[in-house]
Amino acid sequence: MKNFLQQLILITCGLLLLSTASSSIHAQHDVEVSGKFTFTQGFQNYGVYGLRIYLFFSDTTDTLDPVLLFPNEDIEGKTYDLVEEDGSFAFDFSYVGDLSGYNQILVWPSTRNPAAILLDSEGDGGTGCDPNSEIECRDKAVPKIGGGYSATPMDSIKFFEIESAIPRAINGTNPTIIETGVFGTLGEKQGLVFRGMMLSREYLMERYPSSPSYSMPRIRVRFGLEGAQEDNGQFKSQGTPVSLLFKKIDLGFATIAHEYGHYVNYQMWGANSDRFDNLPDNQLELIEGWAQFYSFATRNDTMTF
Ligand SMILES: [Zn+2]
Repeated sequence: MKNFLQQLILITCGLLLLSTASSSIHAQHDVEVSGKFTFTQGFQNYGVYGLRIYLFFSDTTDTLDPVLLFPNEDIEGKTYDLVEEDGSFAFDFSYVGDLSGYNQILVWPSTRNPAAILLDSEGDGGTGCDPNSEIECRDKAVPKIGGGYSATPMDSIKFFEIESAIPRAINGTNPTIIETGVFGTLGEKQGLVFRGMMLSREYLMERYPSSPSYSMPRIRVRFGLEGAQEDNGQFKSQGTPVSLLFKKIDLGFATIAHEYGHYVNYQMWGANSDRFDNLPDNQLELIEGWAQFYSFATRNDTMTF
């Protein structure tokens, strides 16, 4: 009996020690991280408008993958942020838990914004973007803090290669983690596509008091348009899902807005390939005229590119 009591006391002491230790590391952390994500065209910097970026935590002393604090949530400013038109972004949240094992944050861009998903040249969605570009992409399973991998909504998100993530050294034992002036960049063509698609989408959304009566899901975009065509872009209404294809040479906002205009037209007419592709010859000009108008109207509505 005495033996049992001694054991009980030992166990109780052990639990007390454990709870004391865990209460000191499961502190609340207030996290504020802000900066800009831009690309350069000519000598001008532009915001990668709408780009969906995530905040990861990592430990540079081991080789484990960086983690997301809230992989199963989808809250702007907490799980992710969308880059503003001028390129600025901000995370601002509280986290209760142990961050003492982390000494670095990474602001990591995904391959999507509200208007588009950028695919690789093959267009199979496997790696996320053009392998010939200066920034590679990868299909990434996202580890959760404390082990395991994320389920939805992160499963479908793909990220640019880790080289495009912006690292900042932090002290994970601090209750307040504040990093400002975090600057990241994307390649010119990727930035151009995200910004041009977002502005083209915004022009449409502003025409409706609430939202359009037809859906406008993110459209898949890839580079790799080849051949002697004069066009720099192509809207592909056949095949599932529909997609946009661009050349990387001479790609500009006018082309991006024109092709997005085809997509709007297609969705507006009921997203019906038969109807869109089998118009009589004398009505094909209607489709091209519609896209031309859309491109002019979008650009006319945009003070800055
Ligand atoms: Zn066209």
